[in-house]
Amino acid sequence: MIRVYEAENIIDAQLALDELRAGGLDALIKGQHLMGGAGELPLNGVVSVWITVAQHEQRALDLIKEYEAGKKVQQPDQICPSCSETIEGNFGRCWNCNSILT
Ligand SMILES: [Zn+2]
Repeated sequence: MIRVYEAENIIDAQLALDELRAGGLDALIKGQHLMGGAGELPLNGVVSVWITVAQHEQRALDLIKEYEAGKKVQQPDQICPSCSETIEGNFGRCWNCNSILT
């Protein structure tokens, strides 16, 4: 197996995985068992995305490149008005206190 992406967190890993699978590649996430309690995000590099077929590496890297380019156009992070938690811009709700963000 070949590692094609080091995710920032499990959500990032899942999105990258979806991208690879949408491109027809067989991929999986490793490292999610290392996560701590609910709401805790793993350290950089703990969660990674792998492909199972080595010959697909270039295709996978191209898809990851597209995925990362798409991430950059997302909205910037928001600060939750209730608990001051940093929330990724594409979320409508605070994952920590469940407040609706504006
Ligand atoms: Zn909050």
